[in-house]
Amino acid sequence: MARCPLCGKVLDWGGLIEQMLSIENAEEIFKDKERFFDALDSFVFKCPHCGEEFYGSSLPRKEAEKVFELLSEFKGSIDWENRRVRLRLNSLLALDTMLEKWDEKVKG
Ligand SMILES: [Zn+2]
Repeated sequence: MARCPLCGKVLDWGGLIEQMLSIENAEEIFKDKERFFDALDSFVFKCPHCGEEFYGSSLPRKEAEKVFELLSEFKGSIDWENRRVRLRLNSLLALDTMLEKWDEKVKG
């Protein structure tokens, strides 16, 4: 789970991505993995819990990769007109982690 590096509270990926949608050319950036990660690393996010700011580079990379995959895989995952994320990213990530653990258990 992504957590605020300052207060330690769990962050909602949907909310984080929505903060990034204000970037100029966001629609272009979200189509290209390299550009997405460049933008993410240098983006200053604001924690909705404590209001402090931090760089995207402090977010867990593995989760960010999954988020990028989910957003690219599902058509209409982002409502560009209203700058909203339509996917429940945290639920999907939790499900993904659960399935991975299940897979390990079955194979082990
Ligand atoms: Zn915080």
